[in-house]
Amino acid sequence: MRIARFTTGDEPAYGVVQGELDEYGQPDEDAIVLELRGDPLYSGIEPTGVQHRLADVRLLAPVIPRSKIVAIGKNYAAHAAEFDGEVPAEPLMFLKPNTCVIGPNDPIVYPRQSSHVDYEGELAIVIGRICRDVPAEQATDVIFGYTIANDVTARDLQRSDGQWSRAKGFDTFCPLGPWIETDLDPHAFSADGGGRGVQTHLNGDLKQDGNTRDLVFDIPTLIAYITSVMTLLPGDVILTGTPEGVGPMVAGDEVEVSIQGLGVLTNRVVGRD
Ligand code: MG
Repeated sequence: MRIARFTTGDEPAYGVVQGELDEYGQPDEDAIVLELRGDPLYSGIEPTGVQHRLADVRLLAPVIPRSKIVAIGKNYAAHAAEFDGEVPAEPLMFLKPNTCVIGPNDPIVYPRQSSHVDYEGELAIVIGRICRDVPAEQATDVIFGYTIANDVTARDLQRSDGQWSRAKGFDTFCPLGPWIETDLDPHAFSADGGGRGVQTHLNGDLKQDGNTRDLVFDIPTLIAYITSVMTLLPGDVILTGTPEGVGPMVAGDEVEVSIQGLGVLTNRVVGRD
């Protein structure tokens, strides 16, 4: 099931997106949204009976994490090689504030403090229940679903600060969407499950062409590792790392992150004030 959050000009609502996706993850013209009452992460949901054409609604970030976004760095060997070449012995964990989340087609705002802002296309996990100390073999129990993220990074500030909070934490630096896919298990993203292609296009040019089969630490391992440190809450989001091919964006650019079977997340970069 694909669960989107959307607005038609009124209050945001959740809905189930129905329709075929093409090979790039774009929905067909006849795709519809079946409106839901309630909140799938924090309360029950039921259909309202109202349906919209997907083309007639504005999609919003499918989840605003109530507490945190936990992100993993250097989780693809070829991407680690773009930097110092070292794959960490354990998952390299950092936080992005929930205030950096934006939705599909929302603008990424280029901050005044930076002159080098990169895209990082990533698979994102949405947590479905409060959890800590989750064994890897039970990771499936705490996953609500998957979406697409762009872990936007001010690369110059990441290098100069050492700590990554500023470089990764600007408002608008975590586009999420276009919806949450709930019908996949972590195996689908692993090497023996075949993996899923992760691509980033900048102004239509292919820049990242990775596959989740190349994750250094797989999804169950990440959930076990993170929850051995901190409690995860419903709606918390885990970014699983970016494949090789990261690069800079400038004002006016359009960045698209697509994951096979999940969809496409598109955003445009706007200039600093
Ligand atoms: Mg990243």
